[in-house]
Amino acid sequence: FGALPTPAALPAPALSFEFFPPRTEALEAQLWSCIRRLEPLAPRFVSVTYGAGGTTQARTHATVSRIVRETALTPAAHLTCVGASRGEVDEVARQYWDAGVRHIVALRGDPPAGTERYEPHAQGYAYAADLVEGLKRVAPFEISVAAYPETHPGAASAESDLDNLKRKIDAGATRAITQYFFDNGTFLRFIDRALAAGIEVPIVPGIMPVSNFASMRKFSAMCGASVPDWMAHLFDGLDDDPETRRMVAATVAAEQVRMLQANGVDEFHFYTLNRPDLTYAIAHILGARPARPAEPASPSGAAEEAKAE
Ligand code: FAD
Repeated sequence: FGALPTPAALPAPALSFEFFPPRTEALEAQLWSCIRRLEPLAPRFVSVTYGAGGTTQARTHATVSRIVRETALTPAAHLTCVGASRGEVDEVARQYWDAGVRHIVALRGDPPAGTERYEPHAQGYAYAADLVEGLKRVAPFEISVAAYPETHPGAASAESDLDNLKRKIDAGATRAITQYFFDNGTFLRFIDRALAAGIEVPIVPGIMPVSNFASMRKFSAMCGASVPDWMAHLFDGLDDDPETRRMVAATVAAEQVRMLQANGVDEFHFYTLNRPDLTYAIAHILGARPARPAEPASPSGAAEEAKAE
């Protein structure tokens, strides 16, 4: 009875969490309380986005470097090639390597606001596949790239977009992280097509816990993620009721990840939006638990504790 296994029946998945670099001191404090809350879940890595056209270059670098210095987490820095020369991009990558960062999420980036079509920089890496190749020349980074279960909005066709993903993997990327999606069937069909195209690296679903439905819907229209009618129906009438919205959001995301897990997905990337609670709750439902405190240091210590009981 019921399509989903009992929660305890499946091993805890591998997790990664995405943050964006803060613009103000207040947002910085919010980000760090988010990082500290999620850190005990021992994610495989945490990534920090790079503002459109490199606008957050310094803030992304500062955030990633602080993660290296002050946490036990493994950071991944997002890096885009739009609007920059190869030399400039290579220099940013070199600075990451020097700061101890070993993982890059390599992206083309979107054309600047108000620009109709994407135009590569004359001396730049034209597409993410070229960037992956270039980064591999800078240093032996681990590289993740973006994938689009619903096809990138600028792609000529679903096939050409899949060919592009294959090029990024062939250039040296070892993981794809997807744009968020809400229809699991779309994702599962996509990974089947990717496998048939010879893409064998993990394709990790990007999970967006929806805390603000109205703004998520606007953003989705821009990035080509479709929002099913059933979801609009679930959030209908909750615009001024954030508390109920959060409970609905947790339910929607929990159902989504459990269904994926039941279909064999064992790695998840969360778009946290620098807010930990929904991500923490959903990761918990998936089976993630905070790392246990260290065992007593010595046998005699353990004996003392046993005596004390
Ligand atoms: P590419 O893989 O280069 O593909 C872009 C488009 O060009 C696709 O339509 C592709 O099919 C097409 N294409 C590729 N090669 C060719 C070719 N040779 N000729 C013609 N067409 C071609 N943006 C940011 O600014 N900062 C971030 O930190 C950021 N993080 C992201 C993280 C994830 C997980 C995802 C999914 C997206 C992220 N983005 C980010 C958004 C991303 O930059 C945009 O979606 C961008 O429009 C495409 O980037 P890409 O790396 O997928 O590009």
